[in-house]
Amino acid sequence: MKFETIAVENIPLIHAGDDLPSIICDNIELQDRDIVIVASTVVAKAEGEIFRLEEIIPGKMALEIAARNGKDARFIQAVLSRSREILVEKPFMLVTTLAGHTCVNAGVDESNIEGGFLLYSPENPDASASRLGEGLEKLSEKKLSVIVTDTNGRAFKIGQTGAAIGIYKIKPVKRWIGEKDLFGKVLEITEEAVADELAGASNLLMGEGAGGVPVVVIRGLDHYCKENTSITEIYRPEELDIIKKGLRCLQNKN
Ligand code: GDP
Ligand code: MN
Ligand code: MN
Repeated sequence: MKFETIAVENIPLIHAGDDLPSIICDNIELQDRDIVIVASTVVAKAEGEIFRLEEIIPGKMALEIAARNGKDARFIQAVLSRSREILVEKPFMLVTTLAGHTCVNAGVDESNIEGGFLLYSPENPDASASRLGEGLEKLSEKKLSVIVTDTNGRAFKIGQTGAAIGIYKIKPVKRWIGEKDLFGKVLEITEEAVADELAGASNLLMGEGAGGVPVVVIRGLDHYCKENTSITEIYRPEELDIIKKGLRCLQNKN
């Protein structure tokens, strides 16, 4: 058993309006049932999610949070504009984005972009993944899956990993429930976060710095391909999310 993880070389610096599917297809010959992993950084750049920090006007809430956590109120305004709920304010902003993904700073980033600019995360990463997937399938005439990734921290552990934030035609989780273990016991709980695992594997080739590798192709894992999927399938239902409940309690105490 094996699968390949291929870095797509020679992708240029991406600018607003760039046609990512064409740029990707110019640099790799895609095969049927490849999984194309694209860093949200370049998706956001192509979608024009680039803002000048000095042009952002902080509102009342951003100014209040800035007074409490000491961060730049304009940066906080950027984060708020993409958040539906703030779970932690200090020492960093942990939020749930408009699309339902919970992460630090709503994915708003200052790295891998010119100084003085902020890069927001794609507003609807599933829609971004679908647009990329449809564009790539048309150009390559192959059946493909797409995962849009970002680098996220984790609770309880030091170290960030790649995480899936938008998907096209791939299963986000593999349910092991009902399957048997080595000793014939039926598994009752385990669901494997396949899309996040693929994002993590790809992130090994992307890195976080000046590597210039925002696109990776995974070949040989086509049993995870599936139509009509959404990353929202992996967001735990509110009533079962005890971590969020705990964080809300803490917010109310402070
Ligand atoms: P994120 O994880 O989506 O926030 O993306 P990162 O900022 O960590 O970048 C992931 C990879 O993409 C790194 O190898 C970066 O050097 C690369 N990268 C970022 N922007 C560009 C770009 O415009 N062009 C190219 N070729 N690579 C980029
Ligand atoms: Mn990022
Ligand atoms: Mn990254």
